[in-house]
This record gives sequence, C-alpha cells and structure tokens, in this order.
Amino acid sequence: MARYTGAVCRLCRREGQKLFLKGDRCYTDKCAVERRAYAPGMHGNARNKKLSEYGVQLREKQKARRYYGVLESQFAEYFEMASKRKGMTGENLLAILESRLDNVVYRLGFAMSRAEARQLVRHGHFTVNGKKVNIPSYLVSVGETIELKDSSRSLDKFKGALEANASRVVPKWLEMDKNNVAKVVAVPAREDIDLPIEEHLIVELYSK
Ligand code: SF4
Repeated sequence: MARYTGAVCRLCRREGQKLFLKGDRCYTDKCAVERRAYAPGMHGNARNKKLSEYGVQLREKQKARRYYGVLESQFAEYFEMASKRKGMTGENLLAILESRLDNVVYRLGFAMSRAEARQLVRHGHFTVNGKKVNIPSYLVSVGETIELKDSSRSLDKFKGALEANASRVVPKWLEMDKNNVAKVVAVPAREDIDLPIEEHLIVELYSK
C-alpha cells in the first residue's frame, strides 16, 4: 500500500505538536518541534492564524491519522466501521486504530515508533495465535496472542528495543508475560489511549 514518504518531522510541525514518529530522536533536543515550533513552508511562521471550525476538525483528523500512520482512504473505512459498532463512534474509531497489529507491536515495546513497528510486522517477525501475520493493519481481537516468531526471538534488535522501552507502560487491554508473549484481554477503552486526540471533532467532520 502507498505510504507517506516525505519528511515525517514536517507532519509534527504541521500539527504543532510531537507525534513521536521517529523513535529515539523524538525524545531529544534534535526534535524539529523543539527547534522550530511552527508549521513548515513559507507562511508557517505567520502568527495569529485562526482556523475555521472545519479547519480545526480537519487538523484533528489529520493528527489522528498521522499518529497511527494511516492513509486517508483507510481512515475513512475505519470511521465507517466505527459508526456501525455499538457505542460512541469516536471511541470506537480510536479502539479500531489501537487494535492495528503495528500499533500493538509498538505498544508492547518491540519498536521505537509505529513506523518501525509497521516495518517489523511487514518483515514477518510476529505471529498472531501462532500464525505469521505480516499485515500491519491486521486488527487484533480479544483472546488473541501476539508474539515474536521463534527465529526472531534471539535478534538483538528486539532485546534492545524491549530494554529501551522497559519503562513504557503496556496498556491495560494488553498483557505480556515474562516470555514476551502478549494477549489481548479487552477492547481498548478510551482511558487506556494516551493520545491527545479530540475524537468528537473527527466525528463532527465526517458528519458534515
Ligand atoms: Fe515529530 Fe519525532 Fe520529528 Fe520531533 S523528532 S518532529 S516528535 S517525528
């Protein structure tokens, strides 16, 4: 599937906040948002730009899309799926995005960023319920187990990532045992998703 291949730091600057798309670098003073806290482009530094209601909603959708690295068409499909589920559409949408296998791999600490997690999944390093799954958009369900495939377990990059991310809190809807086998124990709840997204704005945007 086609992906955004431009400079990802521009996306953070466009949204005016850190989206943590680059792993380690995001936590250093090399972060572009720390150095240039204004939108990219010729007029990016212009002050007092007031967004319309539509503009605010659009930016919120773009931010959510960029956090998870999802293209426009797939995001729209997720919204459609979310609106057909019981409950609040906005919360359903975030739960669907969280359930993507690449996000799960990131949340478990196997990767420094969602982009890296996506690549690791594509390279076939993970299994779901014992079967190799190399589709980053695969949506995990309650009861499924996720783990590194046997031949990837000894790779230094995974040991290093797990060590580096040891302080990252695994969300309550996932459990990981001492052998690094994870299980989905619940549907992600809104309070388990630590991203500053105002999902009601996205719902308003799609409801126009
Ligand atoms: Fe965004 Fe990370 Fe780049 Fe900072 S370093 S602008 S958080 S991708």
